[in-house]
Amino acid sequence: MQTDQSMVDAILEGNRRILARAITLVESTRDDHRAQAVQLVDALGKSGRSALRIGLSGTPGVGKSTFTESFGMMLVEQGLKVAVLAVDPSSKRSGGSILGDKTRMDRLSRHPNAFIRPSPSSAALGGVARRTREAISLCEAAGFDVVLVETVGVGQSEVMVADMTDLFLLLLAPAGGDELQGVKRGIMEIADLILINKADGELKPQALRTCADYAGALRLLRKRVQDPKEFPKAMTISALEEDGLAQVWSEIETLVKWRRSEGHFAANRGRQAKVWFEDEVRRGVLAQLERDETLQKLQENLRKQVADGVLTPDAAAADVLQALKSRK
Ligand code: GDP
Repeated sequence: MQTDQSMVDAILEGNRRILARAITLVESTRDDHRAQAVQLVDALGKSGRSALRIGLSGTPGVGKSTFTESFGMMLVEQGLKVAVLAVDPSSKRSGGSILGDKTRMDRLSRHPNAFIRPSPSSAALGGVARRTREAISLCEAAGFDVVLVETVGVGQSEVMVADMTDLFLLLLAPAGGDELQGVKRGIMEIADLILINKADGELKPQALRTCADYAGALRLLRKRVQDPKEFPKAMTISALEEDGLAQVWSEIETLVKWRRSEGHFAANRGRQAKVWFEDEVRRGVLAQLERDETLQKLQENLRKQVADGVLTPDAAAADVLQALKSRK
């Protein structure tokens, strides 16, 4: 690893090789790496650079890679610098993991204004959220204008990604029937744009119907204070034929402009920074509980007493918290 200052300088200069290395550093769970990572993120945080952070989610096969490639290419061709980060919360990386196969983004991955970071392969990665937040801020310091954070639509990952991005795109495929594809209400509520992909060829009429269904469903949702009245929106696109992508960007710009002028943009970032801080405190306390040998032994002891019914869980927990307090 380079010394911290030269790493800071290289990232500020937009050196992508060093940026990749820095992301490896924030992914590491080693104590010395962690300390270095915190320093690095802190030093780079002072750069004051900021990118538009866009979350993107969708089930496997819906066209996320194709969309990222086409949409990313459109942006870099406009002169914007685009970073793509993949979030894969599953503990084991499957063969088909998003962005694992870079050749699926052949053009974008070779473009000088793009940076693509696949999911880390480490199964023991402690904290997908932390790694992603830190990687986002590293990309911002490196001068990227747009950071696209892509996640497979499973479990809580969308919510996590929405909590660290400025806006959220949900990619859907044309539905067979008139059902709403079992998309959970919670996901609908965090989406700013619902993009019905594959609106081309034979699938086009189906895509238009699906889009109308979602537009209807979105109208039933409670209005969000941070939205102009026509948002959230559903629209059809074809990532493959690069159709509707300029419209997506224009909608994003409209939304961001509105949120900035109404103060919601900054307020959301502030709220997210607070969540980040709280997460780190919680993580730190837990790490302390896990690493301190005396506390470990105490917990082991108490666990047994709780299991045997000698102590109530409440009382045992209070003992641990008391011990933690007196260790400072
Ligand atoms: P991911 O798993 O969500 O990243 O999906 P991919 O981008 O790998 O796409 C899955 C399949 O859908 C591939 O065979 C793509 O060629 C196809 N696909 C993606 N976008 C479109 C589209 O807009 N129209 C059509 N017809 N096929 C698409």
